[in-house]
Parts: sequence; C-alpha cells; structure tokens
Amino acid sequence: MLPVVALVGRPNVGKSTLFNRLTRSRDAIVADYPGLTRDRQYGQGRIGPRPYIVVDTGGFEPVKSEGIVKAMAGQAELAIEEADVVLFVCDARAGLTPHDARIAQHLRESGRPVKLLVNKAEGLSDIAKAEFYELGLGEPYLISAAHGQGVRAVIDLALEPFPEEKDDEEETDPDAPKRLKVTLAGRPNAGKSTLINALIGEERLIAFDMPGTTRDAIKVDFEYEGRPYELVDTAGLRKKGKVFEAIEKFSVVKTLQAIEDANVVILVIDAKNGIADHDAHIAGYVLESGRALVVAVNKWDLMDGYEREMFSLELERKLHFLRWARMIRISALKRNGLNHLMRAVDEAHAAAYRKISTPKLTRALIEAVERQQPPRARGGRPKPRYAHQGGSNPPVIVIHGNALEDIGESYRRYLESFFREKFDLAGTPLRIEFRTKE
Ligand code: GDP
Ligand code: GDP
Repeated sequence: MLPVVALVGRPNVGKSTLFNRLTRSRDAIVADYPGLTRDRQYGQGRIGPRPYIVVDTGGFEPVKSEGIVKAMAGQAELAIEEADVVLFVCDARAGLTPHDARIAQHLRESGRPVKLLVNKAEGLSDIAKAEFYELGLGEPYLISAAHGQGVRAVIDLALEPFPEEKDDEEETDPDAPKRLKVTLAGRPNAGKSTLINALIGEERLIAFDMPGTTRDAIKVDFEYEGRPYELVDTAGLRKKGKVFEAIEKFSVVKTLQAIEDANVVILVIDAKNGIADHDAHIAGYVLESGRALVVAVNKWDLMDGYEREMFSLELERKLHFLRWARMIRISALKRNGLNHLMRAVDEAHAAAYRKISTPKLTRALIEAVERQQPPRARGGRPKPRYAHQGGSNPPVIVIHGNALEDIGESYRRYLESFFREKFDLAGTPLRIEFRTKE
C-alpha cells in the first residue's frame, strides 16, 4: 500500500501551497476538470523517491477562548492516525506561535513520526529555525513551498523508511492467468458490504486472511462465474461472522490506498441518494491514479421510472468526466445486474492492459486526422505523423509530429474518443501525449 503523508499546521502557513507542489500533476488530465480539483484534500504525491498519498488535513482551529487544539473533524484526525509520516508546517515569517506549540503537543501525543517544516524561508538563513527547536520535534527543516526550495530533500528524508515495493506482476508476466484485484469504493451505506456479500457468497469464499497489524489491510480471494478475483480492502469493510459489514469510521485514506492497490475499482453509488461530492472526489482520484473503473449504480430496485430518468441525467451531468466508464445499474440486495457488473470489470481490466501496435495506432491516427484536421494555429497547422503506445494501465498513446504543442484541448479530446472507439478502451483512463520533432 502507498505510504500516507499528512500535512498539518495552523491556517495560512502554506499547507495548500505545499500540497499543490507535492501533488502537481505531470499531465493535464486532472487540471482539465476544474470542478474536480477544487477543495481537494487528497492527492497523489509526485515529488520524491516514490509514489505516496498526500492528505491536507486543513487548519487546526483553536476552540473558543481556551485555545485548546480541537480534535479535528473526523477525517483529519483519522488521517493523522493513519499517516505514515506527518509534515508539521510552521511559518518562518510569523515565527513560533503558541498555536504551533499546542499542535506540536497534540502531534507528540499521537505518536506518529513527525517532520517539522518551517515554511516561507526563501532568502532566510539558518537562524530562522533556531526558535523551532523548542517544539521538541527534532530538527526543523527550512523550506519554501512557494518556490520549491528544500521540499524535495525533506520528502526524500520523510519517505526513507518506505522503500518502493517491486511487486507489479502485471509488468513482468502479462500472459499469466490473473486474479483481478478489485476494490469497492463509495460512501457509507451505498451498499458496498451488501454487494460484496452478494458477489462472494459464503460458499465461494476461498481464503480470508487479516494480518494483525494496525493498518489491517484485508484481501479476500473469491470466484465469480468461475473467474478468479481478489477483493482489496475497501473503505473499512470488515468481516463480522459470516458476512462483511462496513465499520463506522469510514476512512478516505484507506479507500485511496485500496484504489492504488487495485486493478479495477468499482465505485458504488446509492442511486436513491443521488451523487454526492464525495462520489465525485473519489471518482476524481481514480481518474488521477489511472485505475480502471466501473460505476455500480446501486439500489436501482428502489427507483421508479421517473426517478430512474432523473438519476440518469444527474449521472451524465455530475460525472461527465467519467464518460469512458461503464455505468451499470444494479441491485446488490436483489442480486440483479451482478453478472453484467463483473463483465464490465473484466472488460475494463482488459482495456487497461490492451497492447496496440505502432502500425495500428498510426493508421488510426491518420484516419482520425483525415476525418478532421487539427485547427490551424499561430505556427501553422499541427501535423501529427505517427503514434506509438507509451505504456499501459492506463494506456498512454504518444503522438509524434510537428507543431503539436499547438494542439488544443478539444482536438485532444477528439483524438481520445476516436482511439477509445477504435480500440475498445471503455473502462480505463487514457492518456495522450504529444512529442514534437524539432
Ligand atoms: P494554508 O492555509 O496553510 O493552506 O496556507 P496557504 O497555502 O493557503 O498559504 C497561505 C499564504 O502563504 C498564501 O498567501 C501563500 O501564497 C503564502 N505562502 C505559501 N508558501 C509560501 C512560501 O514558501 N513563501 C512565501 N513567502 N509565502 C508562501
Ligand atoms: P455500505 O456501508 O456501503 O457497506 O452499505 P451496506 O451494504 O451496509 O448497505 C446499506 C443499506 O442499504 C443496508 O440497509 C442495505 O440492506 C441497503 N441496500 C444495499 N444495497 C441495496 C439494494 O440494492 N437495494 C436496496 N433496496 N437496499 C440496498
């Protein structure tokens, strides 16, 4: 599972600035959907020796006049509990404040490993950190989140105890029979446990192991219609007696780790309750992580004709950035649509690992361009010439040619949907990169 790095500190010290720097996307895919990235508190760390999850816990607000550090709203507190390392951010310009001291105390009590960051330190000498030793959190590190100074070094240090595991069987043996790793994500009460119990059924449960660690990831092997799957720990599902039940403390961090660990994510949505921000956020994270995705629209049995129509419109509107994912209407309770759902899971996985030859891709590219040329730009008309596959899971299509930097977003999307159609790429994110020859 990916390590979790939590950003903690009082308001205005530069946590969001640091968050943005750490999670800065290498490709435009996330930035393309503005609604998705606003208020983002969870992201994939991209600066440092390996991937990780970054959580911005928001500000620690003191409660009333006593100024006691409030136990933060559930998720932030959970995030600290679950963090592999906490980055405690202070402000060099403001100096050490009593508020910082209270947060430091709280962190010491949490027992989590902490790195003390003194931000806004561009142009300041080591003297600026002297007063922060007082917090009793060890060496303070001077950084500038805004300018990127010192950030990489402190991340390398923070992640040193978590070397990257090399366990990607998919890469090494693409033809081996696969047990697909499936993760269910979704809000509490969406019907995840009901779905799992319906899919697994007692008699199909092959193995169940729950390591006794505090991180207690669970993995369950099961078969559906003779095909092997592995269920990856999802949002606090735990086995109680003979069935799975969701635990009360729903953890976003655990969901994100399980998403990273999966081959295919099933996002379970409660149709009766509509699509919440939380659903869109999780969907956005799946998009960012590049995982294959199927949306299970659950509790369809509770919907009458009118409600079904309304919901389908809402789905189209709110999850428009997931047009490539299959949306399967199911009833976990009545066990309707499960076959269809698991077929979609298989298809999404196949699409994510599809290998497309350079000649095929190039032919498709030429066909797409003949049908519709890229719009003329300042430097003349962009000329895509050939394409090759630059990776899989998710598939990356690299397009070579001249003046490709002038290709705009709408043409990129045109190409994307053309390739999706042509190569049957439903269910997986697809990345398109342009390489211009000088
Ligand atoms: P948050 O409330 O902790 O998330 O803080 P923000 O990231 O919103 O930053 C608060 C303010 O500090 C903003 O005006 C930032 O531009 C500024 N800021 C953040 N990092 C730096 C830095 O490294 N140097 C300077 N000078 N200002 C910074
Ligand atoms: P979880 O928190 O996501 O694991 O959700 P649960 O599986 O515990 O389901 C929450 C509630 O929704 C329970 O009362 C279920 O019986 C009910 N439920 C789940 N799936 C369906 C469904 O397809 N139809 C109906 N009518 N109820 C469902």
